[in-house]
Amino acid sequence: MSSKRDYYEILEVVKSAREDEIKKSYRKLAVRFHPDKNPGDPEAEERFKELGEAYDVLMDPNKRAAYDRYGHAAFQQGRGPGGGGGGFHDPFDLFREVFSGGGGGGIFEHFFGNAQDRADRYRGSDLRYDLEISLEEASAGADKEIEIRKLETCEACEGTGAQSGSKIITCSVCRGQGQVVTSRGFLQMAQTCPNCRGSGQVIEKPCSSCRGQGRREKTSRLKLRIPAGVETGFKLRVPNGGEAGLRNNSNGDLYVVVHVARHSFFERDGHELHCEVPIPFTTAALGGEIRVPTLYGETIAKIPAGTQNGTNFRIRQHGMPIYQGSGKGDLFVRVKVEVPTRLNPVQRKKLEEFAELCESDNTPIHKSFYEQIKDLFT
Ligand SMILES: [Zn+2]
Ligand SMILES: [Zn+2]
Repeated sequence: MSSKRDYYEILEVVKSAREDEIKKSYRKLAVRFHPDKNPGDPEAEERFKELGEAYDVLMDPNKRAAYDRYGHAAFQQGRGPGGGGGGFHDPFDLFREVFSGGGGGGIFEHFFGNAQDRADRYRGSDLRYDLEISLEEASAGADKEIEIRKLETCEACEGTGAQSGSKIITCSVCRGQGQVVTSRGFLQMAQTCPNCRGSGQVIEKPCSSCRGQGRREKTSRLKLRIPAGVETGFKLRVPNGGEAGLRNNSNGDLYVVVHVARHSFFERDGHELHCEVPIPFTTAALGGEIRVPTLYGETIAKIPAGTQNGTNFRIRQHGMPIYQGSGKGDLFVRVKVEVPTRLNPVQRKKLEEFAELCESDNTPIHKSFYEQIKDLFT
């Protein structure tokens, strides 16, 4: 009888081990038993081969499922004990027999599919759509209409894939079961029926418009409501908005991923907005009011006398609305003091008079700066 060791035991992992755990353990053990590290040690060589085989099986979800169910019998090659007739059969051969003539797919594909698996397989694919919106749209919320090309249920045959008048008949190969079961010795193999691909039914005459697929690619328009306050990366799920299911099974979902475009004036940081507003140096010195554009219309900000370049002013509740919350974030206005580049003779004269009147106390930062570095000038 087979004295093969258990694959999980060989890899020193538990039966519920995840792929990364198996991989990690394999790496460790393969290094330990590598023939280069153990020259002339037949036991290490055997262990190394064993590891490779176990790894190969457990890293393949289908092979692993087969192994969990049948143990080594699932992969036994050729002759069984006693040799020749009866006894063991190569399960690979069994699969090939069942599959011969059937369309595509790996040997292990759809291994032991049940009704739920079939429903999942016939469900339409989920789709993703990337949608760019402006900052204004993100702040107010927006109604958008998108155009999307996807597989939709064929109207001519209403998704059945059958030409009108053509009947849908029970598959004669699996007698409507969707699976073919083959028994050999103690092995029982269930496989998706290659004739009806698991549906249990076949079409007498396929629909000419969709060639029996039941679906056709179409462009459709879809209205979306983007809620206020969303940020880049926000996902809007549209249930059933994905591809149509096969044979009238359920549709996939559509995921609309929102990207908020950069704004020419406002910079966004979560709920906060930032912007820069230039102000005349006289306003900075004398104080006054400045007009500030916001996403919600113009507002007036008071600037105190003696405002320095780069000072930030907070305007409450003028940032982005809080998604699924109440209120808004704040708007921060950074002032940029503008020095006049050209002066007419009158202005120049007045400024010169002003300069003569200036004392060092008028510019304390300037004064302390030169006090700090005065040693450098000696
Ligand atoms: Zn059709
Ligand atoms: Zn069938």
